[in-house]
Amino acid sequence: MTFLRLTGKKETDQGTEKYMPAAAEVLQYRKRTETEILIMDKIASFQVNHLNLMPGLYLSRTDTKGQCTASTFDLRVTAPNREPVMDTPAIHTIEHLGATFLRNSGRKEEVIYFGPMGCRTGFYLVVFGDQTAEDVYPLVMEMCDFILAFEGKIPGARPEECGNWSEQNLNMAKYYIRRYRQELAENKRLTYPE
Ligand SMILES: [Zn+2]
Repeated sequence: MTFLRLTGKKETDQGTEKYMPAAAEVLQYRKRTETEILIMDKIASFQVNHLNLMPGLYLSRTDTKGQCTASTFDLRVTAPNREPVMDTPAIHTIEHLGATFLRNSGRKEEVIYFGPMGCRTGFYLVVFGDQTAEDVYPLVMEMCDFILAFEGKIPGARPEECGNWSEQNLNMAKYYIRRYRQELAENKRLTYPE
């Protein structure tokens, strides 16, 4: 991808001369840029139909490079576009507590990353290895139990440790995780809908 330059360059007898491109030239450029975006691959997570996606734990993608395989899980907490999204302070608290739990758990060596989705309907958990949702289900349930039982100061929520330290909401974090855990226990949706 390239970015729109407001000046063009043109060869003259005196050498290179800068000039403002004509409107038609800018339009032509924009058309080309849109075409470039259109031919870019739609990434896997955008191919999931979000209209019938329900709260659950799904394998989003598996990536392999050389000897290393990583599995990315979609921890979908709310039904996209049909339920209210999670509020940001609660997401932040779930991120701090979830990451703290995962990185101290018996399976900490497998954990690559845990963090929120930009749409605020869930989280991503990335682990080493070719794993299924069933494989990480007990770990995610334990993470929920840890968050639900947590009391006291949120780990990593001090100004020197976090970029927006005071934006936390433990009660709301527990509210979302209580609902999510119940969904996982009762409905246990582990495969994406067709
Ligand atoms: Zn933080």
